[in-house]
Amino acid sequence: MSKKDLNPIKMIVFDVDGVLVRRGTKIKQIGNTTTLETKVINGKQIKQIEELNEIGFLINISSGRGLYMLQEMFRGVLPFVSLTYENGSATWYKGKIYQHINSFKYLQGVFPKLKQIAGKNKGVKGFEPKEFIITIHCIKQIKEIEEVVKKERNLYTIWNGEAYDIGIKKHQTKALGLRQTIKLFKLKKKNVMTIGDNYNDYELLKESGMPISADKSRVKGKFYVPLKGEFLPADKLMQKILLLKGNVV
Ligand SMILES: [Mg+2]
Repeated sequence: MSKKDLNPIKMIVFDVDGVLVRRGTKIKQIGNTTTLETKVINGKQIKQIEELNEIGFLINISSGRGLYMLQEMFRGVLPFVSLTYENGSATWYKGKIYQHINSFKYLQGVFPKLKQIAGKNKGVKGFEPKEFIITIHCIKQIKEIEEVVKKERNLYTIWNGEAYDIGIKKHQTKALGLRQTIKLFKLKKKNVMTIGDNYNDYELLKESGMPISADKSRVKGKFYVPLKGEFLPADKLMQKILLLKGNVV
């Protein structure tokens, strides 16, 4: 990546898990009690995000996680960061919510069926609280879940190595969230850099002018930052951008 590559870029979009924090969600569900760990964004990354904002970049977070969780994780930078959550379903910015899709009637029917499977299968760790998509954490892939969703013609399942995300095929992806966020900020595709590491980032990366992959085995990008190593992918990317822009951290 060179300084020239950064010229058209006005907004940087970060995936969260595997990019700004390590992969892996701790969740436990017993009956109606769900225990879910909130991951903490390192102070260093918060500082880097602040610096990017200071030199004029808009920052958008695009995650499969729910809003409540992202707000907690990004508390320190909420005055200027926009949060696109549940795989592009909605965007929060300065206290206002822009809903991009209404998935209610599509997911309503399948939910009890999934609950039933979960009740019988020890491989299911729990449902992550979500509003617009369904996320089921499992020890490993579970065929019954895949089969039940396959019967619903309009729905997809994405297995990301630790959970299934279930949403509306072709529509309820991070690309939808990005297209709407681009409109909100009156930008063009070429003004956007995205970084993601997993299958649910495929559409997001395709929708931006400068896609960056943090896991070549799962998604393709124009540039690549390795997932493994001392620094998180977002850390490396921000170091690079700040260096190219002359702000050394
Ligand atoms: Mg990720």
